[in-house]
Amino acid sequence: MTFKIPFNKPFIVGKELFNIAQAVLTNAHLAGDGHYTRLCQKWLENHLACRKALLTHSCTAALEMAAILCDISHGDEILMPSYTFVSTANAFVLRGGVPVFIDIRPDTLNMDETKIDTAITSRTKAIVPVHYAGNPCAMDEIMEIAKQHGLFVIEDAAQALLSTYKGRYLGTIGDFGAISFHETKNIISGEGGALLINGERFMERAEIIWEKGTNRKQFFRGEVDKYTWVDIGSSFLPGEMTAAFLLVQLELAQQINGRRKEIFQRYETALQPLANAGKIQLPAFNPKIGIHNGHLFYLLTHTPEDRSRLIKHLKDSGIYAIFHYIPLHSSPAGKKFGRIDGPLPHTESISERLVRLPLFYEMTDAEVESVVNAIELFFKKR
Ligand SMILES: *Cc1c(COP(=O)(O)O)cnc(C)c1O
Repeated sequence: MTFKIPFNKPFIVGKELFNIAQAVLTNAHLAGDGHYTRLCQKWLENHLACRKALLTHSCTAALEMAAILCDISHGDEILMPSYTFVSTANAFVLRGGVPVFIDIRPDTLNMDETKIDTAITSRTKAIVPVHYAGNPCAMDEIMEIAKQHGLFVIEDAAQALLSTYKGRYLGTIGDFGAISFHETKNIISGEGGALLINGERFMERAEIIWEKGTNRKQFFRGEVDKYTWVDIGSSFLPGEMTAAFLLVQLELAQQINGRRKEIFQRYETALQPLANAGKIQLPAFNPKIGIHNGHLFYLLTHTPEDRSRLIKHLKDSGIYAIFHYIPLHSSPAGKKFGRIDGPLPHTESISERLVRLPLFYEMTDAEVESVVNAIELFFKKR
């Protein structure tokens, strides 16, 4: 089925396609770690004030690299929200780790930092805060708990490029940050991602794991006279076509996020009367703590039935709205590989009532209005 207003739409903002031609014709370099890869990494390091960035072929790959760098092994426990994408957990399960799912806060939909302490056991190795919708987790509290217990912190900042927490960019606060450039995110390259490495002690090993377990990067820098297999690793680099495309979007990131924030604000303003009338609940962001990047706009209905009916009503109006996350603890793989720490009432209630509205860079004001009108009509009839 095609929709009049899709949920998401990939886009170009400038010379992405020209850059791809440059990579082939001028640079004659299509494998990874070339000119464009290095420029993208430099951009991330400079603009996020991060020590080291490595481009990956996905955020999933960046999380997998982080799990290797933390030496996650059989039976290690990793604390994370259940309300997240599967890669947050899979990356650690692949190393034999056990995800321990913690409830979310009903206001930010992020991991509840007050529930972390009691979930820690002698096997706990890491905490993975997920910045849902580019809204920051309570990083001061999380970093303090991690410090007390000697735990790694890996920020799943897939949705959070250029969002901030108390003036710092998300992904640069924990030991690692994982960013996504998937076509559904703000800044895109089809598939794509980056690992931000914030601790000096991980930098050399990160390059080795990234380069398939070899010391090829040291070889290219002339630090060793031949390169060889020195550690575990895999193929985590994207090709230069991906990086060539991505660089243009990174350079226009403020403009792209700016438009997304405008769309977000239009939704927020237009839907406020329905929220005031108690018919829906809107996202809660605290501008004193963090600035979000306009990644996604959601609303909460009162009941799961209302959610299904609203999504169906929008679909009948040619608008593609979607739900977000079947909680991992209730999924077949989540039950097999992970466990919960106590009940997760907010995760269960919110995941059944959340609707994500269409939001993409090229969405017009008229399209936003159509979505708002369709939502208003739905609640008028009820
Ligand atoms: C999109 C997303 C991912 C996965 O990103 P990919 O680049 O598609 O691998 C991981 N975690 C969260 C929270 C995401 O939203």
